[in-house]
Amino acid sequence: MLEVENPVPISHAKEIQAVVLDWAGTVVDFGSRAPVMAVLTAFEQAGVPVSEKEARQPMGRAKRDHLNALLTNPSIAGRWQTQHGRPSTEQDLDEIYAYFLAVQAESVAECSPVIPGCVDAIAECRAMGIKIGSSTGYTHDLLAPVAKRAESEGFKPDVMLSADDISPGRPAPWLIYENARRLGVQQMSAIVKVDDTQAGVSAGRNAGVWSIGVVDSGNEVGLSESDLATLPKSEKIRLQQKASLRLINAGAHILIDSIVELPAAVKLINSKLQAGCLP
Ligand SMILES: [Mg+2]
Repeated sequence: MLEVENPVPISHAKEIQAVVLDWAGTVVDFGSRAPVMAVLTAFEQAGVPVSEKEARQPMGRAKRDHLNALLTNPSIAGRWQTQHGRPSTEQDLDEIYAYFLAVQAESVAECSPVIPGCVDAIAECRAMGIKIGSSTGYTHDLLAPVAKRAESEGFKPDVMLSADDISPGRPAPWLIYENARRLGVQQMSAIVKVDDTQAGVSAGRNAGVWSIGVVDSGNEVGLSESDLATLPKSEKIRLQQKASLRLINAGAHILIDSIVELPAAVKLINSKLQAGCLP
């Protein structure tokens, strides 16, 4: 055995080559409202209502994993036991998931306009030579109408991967690696993951890429654009700070208010790469 004391450093990119964007709360659906509403409806229908705070906690995971995380949440499991006289089963999860998919299929595209400023921000990234990947916790069938609407509003990524393309989903890094493979980018230091959830930000760190957390438009603040705009200033700051802390704790390198700030964040990362920094 020979331990190489100072291995020859591999060459690193000096500029970002690709971004991997989340969908709800990042590029569409300000406040990530659509998935929450469907989760609330599905649990209400199962006789065990959950709060919006509970529903948002595991956001970012593949939707079946998300619902399973709620069923195994000790407080919700306790309420389930009280309501049904027994713990929840795999069949209960299947039924809630089927109901959730049906509710989502009806409402998701309706609730998912492209976030203001997204189209221009992505055009600016493309002008910098950056490829646009994407991934979501939505299934392929749920993403399809959302992507169709987004395209009609001017947003169309080069790669779209959904929860049923690769499992396990976030916080595992595999959806990011498959984006990298399809986009033809070999160096993880040349990739930026952008997400509004703890699971998504962690997936970025697990993949070894730059991880950006989205605050104002995302799941962690969780308000529509108009509700956020009309909030008293002190309450808005409180929500932003709480959301920021959760994304920082998940490992974010950079926080942005919304996708509008992505080009500036990429320029900041480029300057870090040029100074020899790695994610
Ligand atoms: Mg999201």
